Parts: sequence; C-alpha cells; structure tokens
Amino acid sequence: MTYDLKNSFAEALKDQNEIFGDMLFEELELKKTGISFANIPENIKLPKTEPAPNNNIFKDEFQKASSVQELNTLICECMKCPLGKTRTKFVFGVGNPHTQAMLIGEAPGHDEDLQGEPFVGRAGKLLNDILKAINFAREDVFIANILKCRPPNNRDPLPLEMETCIPYLYKQIELINPKVILCLGRVAASGLLNKKLSLGQFRESDHEFNGIKVIVTYHPAALLRNPNWKHGCWDDVRKFRKIYDELTAS
Ligand code: URA
Repeated sequence: MTYDLKNSFAEALKDQNEIFGDMLFEELELKKTGISFANIPENIKLPKTEPAPNNNIFKDEFQKASSVQELNTLICECMKCPLGKTRTKFVFGVGNPHTQAMLIGEAPGHDEDLQGEPFVGRAGKLLNDILKAINFAREDVFIANILKCRPPNNRDPLPLEMETCIPYLYKQIELINPKVILCLGRVAASGLLNKKLSLGQFRESDHEFNGIKVIVTYHPAALLRNPNWKHGCWDDVRKFRKIYDELTAS
C-alpha cells in the first residue's frame, strides 16, 4: 500500500470511529464470538486505566487559582504525564475569560503545539468560519482542549493522559462559568461528560455538565474530510447559539 493510500485508509477508519465510537469495532469483534455487546456489564466494557501519577510539584496547587490567567501560570509547566516531555508549547486555551460560551476540542495538533494556541491550523480556520456563521468572533468565546499538550503524531489521547489533564479543564470551566459549552467531536464529549457514546448518540441527546448545557457536534477536522457532515454541524451550532441567546437574554 502506498503511503497516501495508507493515510487515507487510516483517516477513513478514524472518521468511522468518530461517528460510531469504539462500539463499531467492539461490536464486530464480539459478533465473531457470538457475544452481544449489550449484555456485557458496564464495568467490563470500559478498560481500566492506571491511576494518574501523583506529582507533588503540581499537586492541586492549581485548584487555588482565582482567575484564568493565574491558572495558566500555575499549570503551564506541567510535567504530570509523558506529553510534557514531547510538547513544544503548552496549549492552555484562548479567548474571553468572562464569556458565557465555551468550546472544547480534543488536543493540540502540530500547528497548535508550535504556536501555543488551540485551533490555529486548517481545522481552526474552519472553526472560525463556523463561529462567524453564528455571529461569534473567536474572541467572544473561550476555546480549550481536553489535553493541553500534543499527543505525538496526532494520535488519540490515551485514557491516562485524559485522566491526568482533565482536572485543568474542569478548573477552567469553574472559573469561566459559561452558560453553554460546545464539544467538538466525540473525544471531547466523552472526556468532558465521562460517557462512552458514539458521536451520533451524543448529538441526538441533551447533556449537562455541572448544570451547564452541553451541545456536541462534529470535530472541524472531520468536517474537512467529510464536507457533507456540515449540514448536521450547522443544526448543532444554531442550537448552541439559540441556547446562548436564551440564557444570556436579560
Ligand atoms: N484539534 C483539536 O481538537 N484541538 C486543537 O486545538 C486543534 C485541533
């Protein structure tokens, strides 16, 4: 197989996984053995991860932060997981810390790792256009990721990395206290909501995180590969805007 063909094949599999989640592959494996996925208890379906390392240097000090800026200062040199050693820049997040609307992605990619800012590559340009279409400038919202450091070769975040990094996102949400959150892609949604669903399932139901409304839509990188998914994304982001308008109307 040529390199390009291999890459396209890997991306197509990634998109299938994005929409159907791991269930697609697990279901196929289980069918071979005649076992039904639906009958397996929850605690067996989810692989157990090792506990997050207890690194005393960064241990919970960040919980004392009283502003988004202070939080950044407290965590920007984090070395709690191995991604600390491979990153170029820590990608804290960007935008208006007093906003009522937050966007959450998966993890920094190549461009974000170099620039220290989320969604600055091709997917970021599309995200800016999506925001513009619902009358938001990038500066109006706050954009953060589940992981603050780039996983090598843009692989999916590992459970241990997510478990280690997600307290930082929770603290960002606590300090910003938005009225509505838009999750970009299945990994962002399952990380934030701690639920294992397919993107389709995430999109079709209502979610809340600590009383904050959460809308889930496609990841912009997946939209670049599958432009026909933009219709669905348009429905989701209009819903996001509508909830924002309703909850911020005085
Ligand atoms: N993809 C993400 O999920 N986040 C980024 O910051 C860039 C690409």
